[in-house]
Formats: sequence, structure tokens, C-alpha cells
Amino acid sequence: MKKNGTDKVLEGKMERSLEQYRDIVGDNCLDQLKDIARHLSGKSIVHVNSTRAGGGVAEILNWLVAFMAELGLKASWEVIDGTDEFFRVTKMFHNGLQGNDVPFTETERKIYEQNAVRNAEKLRAKLEAADYVFIHDPQPAHLINLCPNRKGKWVWRCHIDASNPDPKVWNYLSKIVAPFDASIFSMPEFARKLPHSQFIIAPSIDPLSEKNREMSSGEVDELMTRYSISRDLPLITQVSRFDRFKDPLGVVEAFKIVRRDFPCRLILAGAGAADDPEGSAVHAEVLKAVGRMPDVMVMMLPEDALFINALQRASAIVVQKSVKEGFGLTVTEALWKKKPVIGGNTGGIKIQVKNYETGFLVNTPQEAADRIRELLKNPEMIGKIGEKAHWYVRENFLLTRQLRDYMSLISGFTQGFASYLKQV
Ligand code: UDP
Repeated sequence: MKKNGTDKVLEGKMERSLEQYRDIVGDNCLDQLKDIARHLSGKSIVHVNSTRAGGGVAEILNWLVAFMAELGLKASWEVIDGTDEFFRVTKMFHNGLQGNDVPFTETERKIYEQNAVRNAEKLRAKLEAADYVFIHDPQPAHLINLCPNRKGKWVWRCHIDASNPDPKVWNYLSKIVAPFDASIFSMPEFARKLPHSQFIIAPSIDPLSEKNREMSSGEVDELMTRYSISRDLPLITQVSRFDRFKDPLGVVEAFKIVRRDFPCRLILAGAGAADDPEGSAVHAEVLKAVGRMPDVMVMMLPEDALFINALQRASAIVVQKSVKEGFGLTVTEALWKKKPVIGGNTGGIKIQVKNYETGFLVNTPQEAADRIRELLKNPEMIGKIGEKAHWYVRENFLLTRQLRDYMSLISGFTQGFASYLKQV
């Protein structure tokens, strides 16, 4: 069964313009961005990933492609097709890269490569002609080996925590990605031994998107009523795809401990992504663990960014108790909304959550419960941490910083790499 369809370009379709960010990020930041972009006017750049919606990569590509276009590049976004079998294999890659021992064999290799052949037939002409190609994650990575007449520079952007991969998967994938001209990882710990330059660029959020823009309390109330969210008690929320690495069962366990002393409600909200075939099984596991607990709501999220925004704002505390996490945009989104985050002590969450500054890092459900209780007991602390959290995101994880880093990397191929670009 076909999943996505190779979508057409999304060329600069964005209602916002970069000028609207001036008040948030300051003059220097925008002027620097425009300066860098001047060298790149008219260059073509194609981003390729495997889903148009659901998950952090799609979230970022939505604005990244549009703003690159506004800055003068011919930017576009292609989504590869895949069979159910293919997405089973690429989810296996994902799990293997994040440390699981997975049954990767010759059969999986063939499924992966054959799927790439089908996509290459459709995309080859465009990719070979592009000045820059950014391939996101392992799903489309093999395209590079099927585009022998590449004109431009190709960058592999790995969004996954690849710090401790299953050797079977990494031995295979490292050969697939070796021909790239550069790789990008979110943290230095994730970088691998590869025969090309590796850059460290953390993801970021768009503060003016429907997902993150300011909302009045009236708007939040209206959405909570529309989706039948009770607000009689403090809300503890985790927004995530139903994925075992996000540890939804650990969140339920932590909540069971908290509710012994503190009346509150838990919301586990998530939807599937076209490239994640394990979502419904994990969703079923969560429903089973929750049983008939009246104060827990397991919610299949509608495709409604404003609702996610409202839900994060309506929450007292946001949890992201992942046991592996490439970055965790849900953490950034919550911090931006002045919510302390109880985050799993792993991967990209560690560069966002600082104890007593922006939230708490936890290793177990018991630790998560202890920190949630500490915060619920102390609303003043929630307020203080929330304020710092917002500023931390403003300094480090807004879209203009990521745009600057991507544009600098691109221009670095011909102009030399800027000193603020972190290389390993
Ligand atoms: N998200 C969503 N629907 C969902 C779950 C998540 O729109 O059902 C959004 C979430 O708000 C965030 C992104 O998708 O913007 C998830 O990114 P993150 O880096 O946290 O995790 P990933 O899913 O990429 O592992």
C-alpha cells in the first residue's frame, strides 16, 4: 500500500514573513540571516524526508522550506513513497540506531533498497540537478547512491539519537551515508565516525506558528471545552507519538504515584505518523495500562496545531519522559509556553531541561513522580521555572538560529565555514 505519494514542492507557502520575528529575535539576528542569504540567492535546495505530517522533522520542514524560499533560495520539499514493509524496516533502523537490538537481515536490506529505487526514478532528475540536497534521517538516505550524476552538495541530517546504535544497523547505514558531503547531528554525542565533515545543529521551534503563538485564555478555554478536557484539577500532559522510546507507560506509572497524594489529571495525547507503523500497537498498550482510571485521558490527537498549543498552555506541568530522544520538540514547545518540563534524562532533552532552571531531568517513574509532586506543592516554583524556561528557548531554540546555521553550512561549502558552526 502506498503511504505518502511523492508530494510536490511547497515553495514558500507561508503566511508569515521573517520580518514578523524582528521583535522576538532582535535586529542583529535577522540582519545576519539576510547577509548570509545574499550569497545563496537563486540556488536550489531540496529537502527530502518520509512524512509530510506527524513528528518533529515534518514540523521543522514546514517553516524551514518556506523561510529558505523567502531568503531567496529555490527551496522545495519532497516526501518519499513507501510500502508498509518499507516503513517497518525504517522503523527498525530508527529503533536500531537508538540502541535496540533489531533483527536486521538481508530481507530488510532488500526491502529498503528496492523502495529507494522506486523513489529515485521519480526524484532523480530533480535531485541530481539541485545545488544542495538535504536528506532527513535514514528513510531516504539511499537515494544518494542512486543519483550518480549529482551536481550539488548532499547533506545527511540525522535527527535520531545515534550515540549507541545496534552495530548491524550502523555497519550497514554508515556505508549508505558515507558518500554524503556532510552530516548534521543534534548533539556532539550523536556524531559517528564518518568519512565527511559532521556539524552539530540543534533543532528549534517557530514561535509564531499555530503550535506556538500566543493565545488568549479565552481561546484556550474554548479549545479545552471543544475537546472535552476537564480542568477542574491540575493537568499533567505528555504530547507524543505513541512510541516506546517516549515511555508513555512510565508516565502512567509516575502518575499513579502522584495521584495518591495530589488530585490531578493526566493527558497522554498523540497521533500516528505515516512513517511510524508501531503507533497503534503502543496506543493499545497504553490504553490497557490505563484501564478505567477516571483521571487519565488517552487522546488520539486531531490534526490541529492550535489545540496542541492550547493543551500545552492549559497544563500545569508538561512531561516528556522519553528513554531515548533525538531532541524533543515537544519539550521546546512546552518550555516556550512557560511550562516546567519533567524530562527523561536522555539525548536532546538534556540540552533543554536544566534542573531547577527549566524543569527536571528524571530517570525513573518514581523520580518523575517526586518532581511532579514537588512542583504541584509549590506553584511559585512552577511560575519561576516557567519564566526561565521561556527565556532559555528564546536564547537557544528559535527558528532564526537554526536557519542561520543551515544557511551558514550551505554557504560554507563555497565560502568557508563560519566559526559559530559547531563541527566535530
Ligand atoms: N506532534 C504532533 N502530533 C502528535 C505528536 C506530536 O503534531 O501526535 C508534534 C509535536 O507537537 C512536535 C512534533 O510533532 O512538534 C514531535 O517532535 P519531537 O521532536 O518531540 O518528537 P518526534 O515525534 O520527532 O520523535
